[in-house]
Amino acid sequence: MIAYKDDYKQYPSLQMSTNDSIRHRAKILVVDDDQNVRLLTRQCLEAESMTVVEASNGLEALDIFTRERPDLVFLDVEMPGMSGLEACKRIREMPQGESIPIMIVTGSDDRDSIDAGFQAGATQYKTKPVNWSLLGRDVQYMLRASNAFNSLKRQEDRLRYLAYYDPLTSLPNRRSFNEQLNRILKRAARHRTSAALMFIDLDHFKRINDSIGHARGDSLLVEIAKRLTNELREDDAINYFTDNSAEEELQGVGTEIARLGGDEFTVVLSDVESAGDIEKVARRILNSLSEPIALQSHNPVVTPSIGIAIYPQDGRDPDTLIRNADTAMYVAKAEGRACFRFYNEEMNAQAVEQLKMEEELRDAMRNHELELRYQPQIDSNSGTVISMEALVRWKHPTRGMVSPQEFIPVAESTGLIIELGEWVMDEVARHCLYWDSLGLKSFRVCVNISPLQFNQRHLADWVSDFLERSGLPPERLELELTESAIMTDAETNIAKLRDLKNLGVDLAVDDFGTGYSSLSYLKRFPIDTLKIDQSFVSDLETPDGAAIVDAILALAKTLNLRVIAEGIENEYHLAHLVRRGCDLLQGFYFARPLYPEDVPSMLRENYSRQIQQVLRSATVS
Ligand code: C2E
Ligand code: MG
Ligand code: MG
Repeated sequence: MIAYKDDYKQYPSLQMSTNDSIRHRAKILVVDDDQNVRLLTRQCLEAESMTVVEASNGLEALDIFTRERPDLVFLDVEMPGMSGLEACKRIREMPQGESIPIMIVTGSDDRDSIDAGFQAGATQYKTKPVNWSLLGRDVQYMLRASNAFNSLKRQEDRLRYLAYYDPLTSLPNRRSFNEQLNRILKRAARHRTSAALMFIDLDHFKRINDSIGHARGDSLLVEIAKRLTNELREDDAINYFTDNSAEEELQGVGTEIARLGGDEFTVVLSDVESAGDIEKVARRILNSLSEPIALQSHNPVVTPSIGIAIYPQDGRDPDTLIRNADTAMYVAKAEGRACFRFYNEEMNAQAVEQLKMEEELRDAMRNHELELRYQPQIDSNSGTVISMEALVRWKHPTRGMVSPQEFIPVAESTGLIIELGEWVMDEVARHCLYWDSLGLKSFRVCVNISPLQFNQRHLADWVSDFLERSGLPPERLELELTESAIMTDAETNIAKLRDLKNLGVDLAVDDFGTGYSSLSYLKRFPIDTLKIDQSFVSDLETPDGAAIVDAILALAKTLNLRVIAEGIENEYHLAHLVRRGCDLLQGFYFARPLYPEDVPSMLRENYSRQIQQVLRSATVS
């Protein structure tokens, strides 16, 4: 969130320098029963551009101090009625009087009176007779020192605030939350009471945030924080507390709210008596947060999903409790959102993982966690790289590299694959145009199109727009469609494939052999390439595997299609495929998928000598 800067209006700014604060006319309270002394003092201070207010005795001094809020107090000790020392002590007890500089002026300069002055809270001590010529400067120095001190103190306050509070909502932050939870669990252990941890996550917040804009998104979070606070702090909602605690024990009892970041909030309830009580609170939160939120010209409804874990049954330490509340929260999301769920051990870990990944994948694109790799495809005749397959990678901040085998199905089942697929194409275009600008030889890039993408009605229109927008020549692109995607509803798909083909792109059938291709359709599909699935290549050393590969190669020749084998890992695979006339070769034997920056040097590789050598030496019939 960007809103941090302005949230400190209520906090003194760090920039305020001591000089700035002196530049306004300093106000000095002069307290003395001798009118002549007051007059002289006034003259000296006014000559230094200070404002002077006067009091003639201790009581009056306190009164004027409260009203006038001076910057410094000049205090005579010997006065009738309340003495200067007493007045000094009283001023120090007032909230604004804590840090004000006080100069005490007295006739006695023995050690005891000086000690008494400092004990009463004096900042400085002057003995009579006063050196009037120096007085103005002395006071200036005292003011400056005091300002420097106060500004330091303000900085410290602000840093402490930053460390423990979320500046947007003013709620305690993650760090405070951890401390709260620790404290509450320790206390619950001591008293053998229960506590509950609620994890609150707003449903589809990202989407709402994007549609109303981040500034309003911030206001929305502030409003949510307010509602939580009002709901939980204000009234008798908290009557589930046991009231057997002594006054001091009440500290730390109650409801602790925190914002962990983004749209995640937590509530910790201590001394809960029953699940029914917790449920009541959860229901209140649910209802209150789900009310429409008034933001200029928008009234979004934001529902929360709430996961609840109870101490001690769902976890005795903060980490376990947090993990389980989080799990329960994901179950609440999985079961339709806008609800709360209590943790229980049966909660299906796999479904929860899946949902977590779904949520995280949504952010992955925005957070630039996706990357492309390129795996070269080698022409078996020339031994050169003539095309590359673009393969997506997810560099997850905590899980590390996540395989597309794991997240593509998730993207597919949630529809995110559409956005992801568009990102891949844009990225491919960006890379190609960059490589072209380096003057590299041009090569085809194969992009995987998932079944859901293919089934979109307007795929051809989208690709057409893409080509126009990116300026990528169509012949640079080959779309890899899976066999099962195009064979389902083959009749309709012939038209679709033709639309794509008419744009000038190449089409390949990926994972060929794993589906249920009908030969009669295959003949009618306007495709360019068959891609032998890697499972057959890895089976080449078995008679069945070799037979299938040979059959596909023969079929491709008959249909006059280009054929590529993927998953070539060793010389045996290579020799077999080249001997049987496989056109293109792809696999770890040549190269793993490469970082884009390694593509240029790969383009200069030539494998023909290697291929010839393997053909000569390998023992393949
Ligand atoms: P695929 O399209 O069949 O891609 C080939 C997979 O085989 C890639 O796995 C590649 O790294 C791997 N591979 C290549 N040579 C060898 C080898 O010699 N040995 C072995 N064991 N594996 C090899 P990857 O990158 O993990 O991708 C897996 C699948 O994820 C892809 O299978 C494809 O279906 C999907 N995928 C990857 N990127 C995209 C994408 O951008 N969009 C879509 N829709 N799907 C993608
Ligand atoms: Mg592929
Ligand atoms: Mg494949």
